[in-house]
Amino acid sequence: MKYITFNHQNTSAIGIGTWHLGEGNQAQTEAEMQAIRYGLDHGINLIDTAEMYGEGLSESLVGNVMKDYHREDLQLISKFYPFHATPELIKTSLKASLKRLQTDYLDLYLLHWRGDTPLSETIFGLEQMVQTGLIKNWGVSNFDLADLKELSNLENGQNCRINEDLYNIGSRGIEYSILPWQKQHDMSFVGYSPFGSDGSEYLNIKPVIKEMAQAKNISVHQLLLAWVIRNHDLLSIPKTGSVTHMQSNLAAIDVQFTEDELRLLDKYYPKPTQEPSLETI
Ligand code: NDP
Repeated sequence: MKYITFNHQNTSAIGIGTWHLGEGNQAQTEAEMQAIRYGLDHGINLIDTAEMYGEGLSESLVGNVMKDYHREDLQLISKFYPFHATPELIKTSLKASLKRLQTDYLDLYLLHWRGDTPLSETIFGLEQMVQTGLIKNWGVSNFDLADLKELSNLENGQNCRINEDLYNIGSRGIEYSILPWQKQHDMSFVGYSPFGSDGSEYLNIKPVIKEMAQAKNISVHQLLLAWVIRNHDLLSIPKTGSVTHMQSNLAAIDVQFTEDELRLLDKYYPKPTQEPSLETI
């Protein structure tokens, strides 16, 4: 396993995404738990979940796996709905998440996306939860540059540890200013949906990817994941409910690109040349 510095900690080069896990029948849920266990047993030390995922089913599944591991060896991220972003509702949501996760703290608690509650109120509620020890740190998700700047100008806004946005080869917008800004402000970045989520709706796989994967003797998914983590400066959180796919994703960590290969991919999936609007799923 390779490790990066993320959230000021030694963190595996990929984390475990969990959207849609725990929503199937018992056999499927068992297979999904095996996939997570395989990842944790092979060095992954971060799991990403949310109260939204299956309305708690994902958190419950993660809790069932995590109880067999040393809690302090893992970083656990969960997220609350924007309509739960007031101090009172944050506390209620957090306690329900902790119960499902069978733990007494989260490493990171994120505002899932921006809603109507003023950010200052949300920060106040999150800081209270840090004081109680129920969360170690907090962050945000689906924030664009203007949101991040606004946040950091508020009282305690600089305590925001991470921002989690969409990032894959077909959605490179964050490279333009969000990623550089976060590096400058010591805020870690999580890129979600390295494969473009489910199916091709969010990511157009062009022939160059298939040809390059074939030439490198790896799968298309391995190429996509290896590309996202190529600079060792952000965390990607692929989701899989299959041990075989988890093995493949772990192996992708060792895939390297030549300068020529990266240039060729840039040609078909260009870097942003101006500030794009934030893409989300
Ligand atoms: P991903 O881009 O991770 O793609 C998941 C899909 O890829 C699944 O269909 C999975 O199927 C398949 N897959 C995974 N590995 C392989 C492989 N090696 N070979 C072939 N297929 C594979 O999508 P997500 O949208 O789930 O994103 C990842 C995580 O990011 C989420 O689970 C969630 O934790 C987070 N997220 C956060 C958001 C936010 O707003 N903050 C929004 C969206 C996602 P299978 O299970 O069969 O392997």
